[in-house]
Amino acid sequence: MSYHWRSSKPETMVTKSLTDTDTMSIPTSPATTAANKDSIPVSPVTSRPPSPLSLHVAKPLEMKSAQLALPSHIDVDGLSWPSIGTKQRLNETEEEKSQRIAKISDAVKTILECIGENPNREGLFKTPERYAKALMFFSKGYEENIKDVVNDALFDEDHEEMVVVKDIEVFSLCEHHLVPFTGKISIGYIPNRRVLGLSKLARIAEMFSRRLQVQERLTKQIAITLFEILKPQGVAVVMEASHLCMVMRGVQKPSSKTVTSYMLGRFRDDPKTREEFLTFVRT
Ligand SMILES: [Zn+2]
Repeated sequence: MSYHWRSSKPETMVTKSLTDTDTMSIPTSPATTAANKDSIPVSPVTSRPPSPLSLHVAKPLEMKSAQLALPSHIDVDGLSWPSIGTKQRLNETEEEKSQRIAKISDAVKTILECIGENPNREGLFKTPERYAKALMFFSKGYEENIKDVVNDALFDEDHEEMVVVKDIEVFSLCEHHLVPFTGKISIGYIPNRRVLGLSKLARIAEMFSRRLQVQERLTKQIAITLFEILKPQGVAVVMEASHLCMVMRGVQKPSSKTVTSYMLGRFRDDPKTREEFLTFVRT
């Protein structure tokens, strides 16, 4: 069993769109603040006149939904692309948890010493432990698995119009610098008689963003996961984010944003469908 990102097998049912690696910096207004960390505001929209078959009255997919068949890109335990260490973390006892926090705290203390601080002064005394706990929260997505996230929210539904949930606010950590990047993700899909509860789209974005990431991979993982779970006619994911590693250091362009997208199925093949999605996302 392998727990790493399997980008080495691009031939498996996923074909990159022409735009999927488009990464561009677009000067815009200053980045959004990091307030409301814990809420995931979303604004769902559906295409064309609202279907009488509202998603909210969809009936649960038989009891089969409980045994969600996990396809190739998603590991058997539903964790989806974790490293081996994340499995240890998931299964550890309370005592092992505190040992982990203590170990991170020690490391942070070392960092404080290395930058020339006194880790024993009043203001910093509890910082290592605080940081250790915060870091565990920032990376809590490693302990979540797609099975639990999705489980009872798959519905059989005769709905084949585009579903878009846009502006899902996410907070992630850049794996190259361990500093945050924050932004908004918009997800669209065209069902193939199977829909997912709308809030679950945001939960999936949350699960993958609360791991060490690069924006391109985050965008792609969300798209591929949805594509495999829903077997829809298409999936589109667009993310616009501001990276503190760019804003605070290096090139120091405070207003620059990075946009990534990943399109599958009809969004990839049909420019009109893609345009319709992008119009939703922009407005
Ligand atoms: Zn970075």
